[in-house]
Amino acid sequence: MIISIHSQATSEERSQLMALLHRISGNQRPITTTRMAGREVIVLDLHLLDTTAQTALDEQAAVERIIYIKTPYKLVSREFQAADTSIVVGKGHTCKTVNVGGQSASPVIIAGPCAVENREQLITTAQAVANAGAHILRGGAFKPRTSPYQFQGLGVDGLHLLSEARQITGLPVITEVMEPEMVDVVAEHADILQIGSRNMQNFPLLRAAGKHSQQRPVMLKRGLSATIDEWLLAAEYIVAAGNPNVILCERGIRSYDPQTRNVLDLSCVPLLHELTHLPIIVDPSHATGRRELVPTMSRASIAAGAEGLIIEVHPDPNSALCDGKQSITPEQLQKIVRETRILAGMMQEETSLTSVA
Ligand code: PEP
Ligand code: MN
Repeated sequence: MIISIHSQATSEERSQLMALLHRISGNQRPITTTRMAGREVIVLDLHLLDTTAQTALDEQAAVERIIYIKTPYKLVSREFQAADTSIVVGKGHTCKTVNVGGQSASPVIIAGPCAVENREQLITTAQAVANAGAHILRGGAFKPRTSPYQFQGLGVDGLHLLSEARQITGLPVITEVMEPEMVDVVAEHADILQIGSRNMQNFPLLRAAGKHSQQRPVMLKRGLSATIDEWLLAAEYIVAAGNPNVILCERGIRSYDPQTRNVLDLSCVPLLHELTHLPIIVDPSHATGRRELVPTMSRASIAAGAEGLIIEVHPDPNSALCDGKQSITPEQLQKIVRETRILAGMMQEETSLTSVA
């Protein structure tokens, strides 16, 4: 249930409502108060009320509207918000701003190395990515690696290099944050906070990214074998904690065949568009683990309706410190950017023809 509160409600009316909600829920469940689209809302996981409780609730002066949402996720559901969420990336830093999601936005291409390796590698790649026509630069400063003996990223030094790359190219940057304590420092440098697959259900991290005062957009990658409900509930943690700017990222799920690194679940894109108002972007690099598959799966993702792509690019993929096998060259990226524009244009034309007909 989501209750939207009258903007004019007095503190006494609010307290009365809260007391009633505590009584109705038997003091058993969290009652979350947050803001969405400028409105104060209360969320609690309660559906069936007896008539007495229902009447008492309807009579509360602080209540503007009560919306019963059937799914376990509430604020991120399409049932709650019919319009697509549109997220502005790059606010508060000197760079271009980029819109992700929303009816009129064209697909966004995020590209860059898996990891920030050194200044020269990052700046060369950033310039190449900008010249190729991509919109946002990616690069991991904190790397979640399977083995503790693999390259772990440059840490805070990597964040400084990303800021410098933004300054040089004008592109907003996205980088991963792995710990709740690091959200503030990463948000100082990044335009999007990336929460990686391995941390999709790191609840303290989700809450910290949600509570963060600047409300930096968060890109939440699907867990290695997460169901769509688990993924949307993870997004709900961030939104319920106060940050509505969440982008979902499909990056493939675990299966049995080692031919590809993961299985790209493209059917999740149209399905998520039914279930949620949040934008969805696809990562064909981690999904396939094979650079030769990236162009085709990029086209397929756009055709499936994704709001964008995140692609690993390296000036010399074979010498990359991380994920070289799935990294493409800047020249290959340029072709993907061109193809994306063509495809998105065709799809838009088709939509406008259909709406006229
Ligand atoms: C990444 O994008 O750098 C990354 C580590 O991806 P994932 O969390 O999807 O494995
Ligand atoms: Mn990678």
